[in-house]
Amino acid sequence: RASHAFRDYPSLSKLVVICTISGGGLAAYSDVRPFGNVYADAAQPAIKKKKVVVLGTGWAGTSFLKNLKDPSFDIQVVSPCNYFAFTPLLPSVTVGTVEARSVVEPIRNIVRKNNLDFGFKEAECYKIDTVNKKVHCKPTQNNSMGGKEEFTVDYDYLIIAMGARANTFNTPGVVENAHFLKEVEDALRIRRSIIDCFEKASLPSVNEEEKKRILHFVVVGGGPTGVEFAAELHDFLHEDLIKLYPDLEKYISITLLEAGDHILNMFDKRITAFAEEKFQRDGISVKYGSMVVKVADKSITLKERSSGETKHIPYGMVVWSTGIGTRPVITDFMKQIGQGNRRVMATDEWLRVEGVPNVYALGDCATINQRRVLEDIAAIFSKADKSGSGKLNVEDFNEVIKDIIERYPQVEIHLKSKKLKNFVQLLETHQGESAKQTTLDIEKFKSALSEVDTKMKSLPPTAQVAAQQGEYLAECFNRMKECDENPEGPIRFRDSGRHRFKPFRYKHLGQFAPLGGEQTAAQLPGDWVSIGHSTQWLWYSVYASKLVSWRTRFLVVGDWGRRFVFGRDSSRI
Ligand code: FAD
Repeated sequence: RASHAFRDYPSLSKLVVICTISGGGLAAYSDVRPFGNVYADAAQPAIKKKKVVVLGTGWAGTSFLKNLKDPSFDIQVVSPCNYFAFTPLLPSVTVGTVEARSVVEPIRNIVRKNNLDFGFKEAECYKIDTVNKKVHCKPTQNNSMGGKEEFTVDYDYLIIAMGARANTFNTPGVVENAHFLKEVEDALRIRRSIIDCFEKASLPSVNEEEKKRILHFVVVGGGPTGVEFAAELHDFLHEDLIKLYPDLEKYISITLLEAGDHILNMFDKRITAFAEEKFQRDGISVKYGSMVVKVADKSITLKERSSGETKHIPYGMVVWSTGIGTRPVITDFMKQIGQGNRRVMATDEWLRVEGVPNVYALGDCATINQRRVLEDIAAIFSKADKSGSGKLNVEDFNEVIKDIIERYPQVEIHLKSKKLKNFVQLLETHQGESAKQTTLDIEKFKSALSEVDTKMKSLPPTAQVAAQQGEYLAECFNRMKECDENPEGPIRFRDSGRHRFKPFRYKHLGQFAPLGGEQTAAQLPGDWVSIGHSTQWLWYSVYASKLVSWRTRFLVVGDWGRRFVFGRDSSRI
């Protein structure tokens, strides 16, 4: 067992003495050989490796670490979690459809396979100092072994992948009284709380009114997470708990509060309609246009948009799932680097934090600054006008368009009045004829760009985006040495100030919305929609294949099988 542990913590193996007591004798071993390539041969001259510090072990950070293959970096990871959690299965953890340990994988286990020079600190970064190239950290509160000393970690390259926090919109009482569904601990707390409600409602001293309140479960937010949780909860209550608490069935209710007019409004209308009808059939009460203004310990206060009326709803448990906000450490960092007026930290298309050398940000904590992309495009057009006539001929124009579309494939433009597909459409709209057939008036084009209202479509804060960004950045780091040795780089990006690599491209692979009762909706590329039991099997296979290791895959599939045969476990442990 100890040798297994040393495989995961190689740098500690020299310091640990193993004592075994057998048959009255005491034996001590201290010569446990380390695994991996952590110790350089003493005879070899030490080469100072560039230090890459990664903050966070979520989707973005882990994807970066998993795909990094170049052992010439010294990788230091700082995160309050020493594991990666597969967040899409967290709603299933809240009701025991899958167990918490099945959806997590130790980060050391993931990185070990790449044979990297790697160190991990279970700590929180609370300050980033870009002047001295240091991050300031403090140990997490989770660690029962204590350890309060703060420390700093130097970096040559910093990768910020700290994700986001739940957004409460400063609604009073949310932090104190509601559950969030963001981390594994949140899911476990919700699971315990559901059972608590049932045990509490079973006590002889509790009257009917109180039973109704305690067994009223409220979900705030009709996005994918809130909807999936409500569906999982409904299945748990109706498939498992009512068998164990038959007398309480008549008191159970679930309410979903949504501030907008529909749930799942980022999905195709067919999916939204199906989900709303299904919830109605299942008896999940969905209240639209309901703004929660306060969460007290036993009731929620909401304001109805249509009537302006204020209502108090008694509840037993509330789960808050209304989207994400910026972490305080990121807000401080943004102020420090002159991005204090922004809501989300901005990077360029190479995921470099704007204005800070050698600092990258990916995943939910950052967004690509689309306004800058537009300026960049305007500059490309101007530059292509070598004659200075203010016009481009068809040949040059086609070259430029090809270049832009290759660099910015995810471009979708929103004008004040309409949504356009790409730049060619923007030009066509502006020039009134096919842009490909004519010479281009650059000034007109620039003024067209200045009309662009909501900028280009920004990427959604999803695991899919975070994982692809992590993989992209790892690929850049894997090729960094090669590019240093061949500084010319690809012809297209040879200009001074340009990055050596192609910009990040997001490839949307579709999204799922599990709706309970073994039914799922899927919106796949090309706006292909599929809903029902067969899509649930697609969901099972996609998620099983996306799990980070064979161990977790095996455990999750086992949990699904166990649930089919024995149902979900309702013990409060
Ligand atoms: P995270 O995965 O949140 O990781 C952030 C990391 O930073 C964590 O390891 C955290 O511990 C660490 N950290 C936090 N603070 C600090 C600090 N101060 N210092 C150092 N480290 C820190 N997306 C999908 O695409 N499909 C889905 O089906 C889906 N389902 C979801 C279900 C749920 C319940 C939730 C909560 C999210 C879901 N998402 C889904 C969204 C997806 O999980 C996020 O978009 C994704 O996790 C973002 O990745 P990230 O690496 O940016 O952040």
